[in-house]
Amino acid sequence: SGAQRIYNFGAGPATMPVEVLERAQAELVNWHQAGLSVMEMSHRGTEFVAIAAQAEAKLRKLLAVPATHEVLFLQGGATLQFAGVPMNLLRGKKKADYVNTGEWSKKAISEAKKFCEVNVAASSEDRNFTYAPKQSTWKLSKDAAYVHYCSNETIGGVEFHWTPETGDVPLVADMSSHILSKPLDVSKYGLIYAGAQKNIGPAGLVLVIARADLLGEVVAGTPNVMNYKLQSDADSMLNTPPTFSVYLAGLTFDWLLARGGLEGIAKVNAHKAALLYDYLDGQDFYSNPVDREDRSLMNVPFRLRDDKHDAKFLELAEARGLSQLKGHRSVGGMRASIYNAMPVEGVEALVAFMQEFARAHA
Ligand code: PLP
Repeated sequence: SGAQRIYNFGAGPATMPVEVLERAQAELVNWHQAGLSVMEMSHRGTEFVAIAAQAEAKLRKLLAVPATHEVLFLQGGATLQFAGVPMNLLRGKKKADYVNTGEWSKKAISEAKKFCEVNVAASSEDRNFTYAPKQSTWKLSKDAAYVHYCSNETIGGVEFHWTPETGDVPLVADMSSHILSKPLDVSKYGLIYAGAQKNIGPAGLVLVIARADLLGEVVAGTPNVMNYKLQSDADSMLNTPPTFSVYLAGLTFDWLLARGGLEGIAKVNAHKAALLYDYLDGQDFYSNPVDREDRSLMNVPFRLRDDKHDAKFLELAEARGLSQLKGHRSVGGMRASIYNAMPVEGVEALVAFMQEFARAHA
């Protein structure tokens, strides 16, 4: 099935599991003999209310979300939560701590500065964002409302493989590009948010998982749809939710549960990343700049020894159905995003192509 499909290495919107797309296709016009598409259902009707409740239940099961935490399905992507986090978590405080590990951290920081004083508690800018700063170097402030970090920098390919300790100060993470790629201890976080378009579903949908006791007090002027407490009280349906996206997310959660949940997918992800990094480390035509212990299992940036071959590399890769390997404009080079839905065969095909290209152009 899906025989004509390319291998899409794009960073997002990213490849979806073909089984999810095919199930959505089979259910598109007449969902479960209900006589209509999910897209056409009232969000207040019993069918959609059940679809949304099941999506939340499946996500709670996958991540073992504790009862202390609310799960919200919102809109506006991760970018709107760059503002939503300070709006909801400052709770009368005037300062927040941020760790700066790259492009997405910087965007979160500049948005937060509209609402509070930002203390950059740690940064990897000194080495061009190629590592995750060790906890011992973090300079946390005592009066911060929360500590924010981006646990997987999609552009730089830097992933935290450990959970920061912030004492009584709530820990907040932008997990957009690696949520659901491996097991996670949600209880360690005050708030987690993640845009859907990598490991969950359609762009625009964003997941927020937040400790209930932190919610309720918002910055003056916060729109109601941005108020996590109001959204939580309304089961994320303060207004018309992105119904079809929530349904598709639910299908992705089913797909993951059928594959052994997050432990199952983590094994596959580790295998795929090892195929690529082992190859990168065993030759000198390509290179990856990130410290080994901080390399992302989801986003693998690499450069060709001589960038004069970049255009040819991309052209030949595309002709083989190895698509969207161009790196982000801010760093150049190449980037292979290998999220949950990228099959092992896709990574094998990429490595085979890279070997061939290196032999021809060395
Ligand atoms: N944070 C991270 C880590 C990302 O990779 C992205 C990119 O999609 C975003 C935030 C922004 O997400 P969105 O475009 O859905 O607002």
